Amino acid sequence: MGVITKKIKGTEDVLPKQSYRWQFVENIMREEAAKFGFKELRTPVFEHTELFARGVGDTTDVVQKEMYTFDTKGGESVTLRPEGTAGAARALLEHSLTNEGLPIKAYYLTSCYRYEKPQAGRLREFHQFGIEEYGTSSPLADAEVISLADSIFKRLQIENLHLEINSIGCPECRPNFHKALKEYFSEYKDELCGTCLTRLDKNPMRILDCKSPVCSKIAEGAPKITDFLCEECRDHFAQVQNYLRIAGIDFKVNPTIVRGLDYYTKTVFEFVSDAIGSQGTVCGGGRYDGLIEQLGGQHLPSLGYAMGIERLLMVMDNQGIEIPAPAPCAIYIAGLGDNAQTKAFELIQAVRSCGLSAETDVVGRGLRAQMKYADKIGAQFSMVIGDNELDENKAKVKNMTTGEQTELPLDESFAEQFRALHMAAEFAD
Ligand code: ATP
Ligand code: MG
Repeated sequence: MGVITKKIKGTEDVLPKQSYRWQFVENIMREEAAKFGFKELRTPVFEHTELFARGVGDTTDVVQKEMYTFDTKGGESVTLRPEGTAGAARALLEHSLTNEGLPIKAYYLTSCYRYEKPQAGRLREFHQFGIEEYGTSSPLADAEVISLADSIFKRLQIENLHLEINSIGCPECRPNFHKALKEYFSEYKDELCGTCLTRLDKNPMRILDCKSPVCSKIAEGAPKITDFLCEECRDHFAQVQNYLRIAGIDFKVNPTIVRGLDYYTKTVFEFVSDAIGSQGTVCGGGRYDGLIEQLGGQHLPSLGYAMGIERLLMVMDNQGIEIPAPAPCAIYIAGLGDNAQTKAFELIQAVRSCGLSAETDVVGRGLRAQMKYADKIGAQFSMVIGDNELDENKAKVKNMTTGEQTELPLDESFAEQFRALHMAAEFAD
């Protein structure tokens, strides 16, 4: 196969017979987000490279190794978004959204790009649902965003995901933790990978997130952040846990979670599945109280998360969750001969205007082939119009499940009468 008919490595097509699965999940995400007061934010697929370097953090894997960065013809360096938070923060600042009152609650459904080694659950183009809540330092907000993720999973009837939470402190208490980490990891300088060696000075906490087996083994014995939290962070973390209990959300404190992006403070969390292999984190997020300031805005405590839609679908598949199939075609109208075909065309337009789906032949098939097609698309009703039907101005509509036939006039009332018939059949089901 030549390159023209081969997709780029690490990308996937969602084919027409599969897309209803995505739409089902996305609709639930939109509905749940709306219940929690979040509105959709759409930002461009590419941004100035500098935004991600500063927003995501230049010691992160994402910025160091994974970005799709290129120069435009005008000589500007731009990057395909590797995640949604930085672009959302940029939009917040650019449009002064804080003027509209706090908190600001936004969600996005978007594609992301990371140059990673493609494998199950790890793509170069993938999709995220994410939320951002700006302008609140209350632990209630932490519990609220986690609860929105939890409601989505519950609506999707996902059972094999568990929530792990941690606090990674704030600029007050983290330096002490960094110091302890530096001391600990310095003992292992000869064994750490090249990337972690550079992190040792700049951002030793990142070493805890390294995927290399040697580094992660060493990291197991490292000091734990929970022993270094200042009083405010400790209190915040305790309150988040309290609100989660009130919301009836099960969780486990896991002091090894640090998250892969630099902007996090205080609460971090992941929803993890044991069922889909090593790419088990379906949703990750937390608080980023310093992010907006870091990008040149005011101090604006904020938080959010992103979930990977491909991984979510994998978990659902693994659990055998059945996604309701899309509604089939309500009526297939076959026309025999030019005049009848024109009439069929007119009638399907009218049925569609009434809010139902309808199809007729558009490829020039004979009657038998048309009825086979009607069967294939699962049409609930069918109708054949020929010269006789045209003369009498009425035709029989057949219920494909029961075989029952009903005569309807082929005039302006057809679509409404068919709709009533269709509704009665749905009701009988
Ligand atoms: P991982 O540790 O698996 O690399 P991450 O920490 O890089 O994940 P985030 O940046 O927090 O992930 O992204 C949030 C979610 O997006 C992840 O939990 C995952 O579900 C999804 N995700 C991240 N990278 C990919 C990818 N390359 N392919 C598919 N989904 C991804
Ligand atoms: Mg990653």
